[in-house]
Amino acid sequence: AKQHGRNTYQWFASDLNVEASERVELRNDLQRALEQGQLELFYQPIVESRTGKIRGSEALIRWHHPRRGLVAPIQFIPLAEDTGQIIELGQWVLQQACRDAIRLLGMGYRDYRVSVNVSPVQLRQEGFVDLVTDTLRQTGLAPERLELEIVESSVLYDTDQVVDRLGRLRDLGVGIAIDDFGTGFSSLSYLKIMPVTKIKIDRAFVKDVISNRRDAAITQGILSMAHHLSLEVVAEGVETQAHAAFLRKNNCQLLQGYLFARPMPFKAFAEFLATRGNA
Ligand code: C2E
Ligand code: CA
Ligand code: CA
Ligand code: CA
Repeated sequence: AKQHGRNTYQWFASDLNVEASERVELRNDLQRALEQGQLELFYQPIVESRTGKIRGSEALIRWHHPRRGLVAPIQFIPLAEDTGQIIELGQWVLQQACRDAIRLLGMGYRDYRVSVNVSPVQLRQEGFVDLVTDTLRQTGLAPERLELEIVESSVLYDTDQVVDRLGRLRDLGVGIAIDDFGTGFSSLSYLKIMPVTKIKIDRAFVKDVISNRRDAAITQGILSMAHHLSLEVVAEGVETQAHAAFLRKNNCQLLQGYLFARPMPFKAFAEFLATRGNA
């Protein structure tokens, strides 16, 4: 920006400052949110395509900001990753998701399983495996009832350590799902080294699966590969009956999307399970 003259530079610099102060404010607000319980987990059902039964849910964080209202994760997760607050936030998410899962299992939903999003920053922590095992022990949740959703870039740095941690968790019975599968730069090479049990096909492919032959072919290819690797597959962003029919026909076992339900607070999700008679 400097070459464009003094005014442009000043404008650019002050704009950066605004952004920086905004970030500082958001960071302080997030600290308060963690201390004052402004965070909440919403749950979105994951449905078995063949039977329509609810097999579990994904926990998705929401922030009830005192002035800004409901803030979406995309607006604060990246910041929390930058500041390191994701560590404390991630611990809270894990514990809350396990506690809520115990409550649902107690209500009689015996098949229930909860999927929790884990940031690459969390996975790079030495103590991550201990954190998960301690949380399971404290809450009393069986490892098989927990699944961690990780993105491909999780193994970009500290690859050996991260792969080792994921392997140890998988050996305990915790599920490991690759989130947003296909959107990374080298999904297949990651798949080769990651100890995964499930793939989540990104919404970007599902969206146009009916109208776009390439997206349809890619989705079918992922499904066929997953079957050969004995991996479960969830399709994300299932919004229409046509999406669901295509995916069912191509043997995608699990579906998630607005067609079934939007993410909702715990209480609403418990009622949703009750009315769907899934016990
Ligand atoms: P994600 O893990 O890929 O989560 C799926 C996102 O797609 C969610 O957005 C969900 O509400 C949305 N979605 C679900 N079904 C549909 C559909 O049929 N159509 C459309 N258009 N969207 C659908 P959300 O809740 O805003 O979360 C955004 C992202 O924030 C998540 O993407 C995840 O990367 C991150 N995130 C959310 N909760 C957590 C958390 O507890 N920890 C971490 N580290 N990240 C989280
Ligand atoms: Ca996810
Ligand atoms: Ca996803
Ligand atoms: Ca995503």
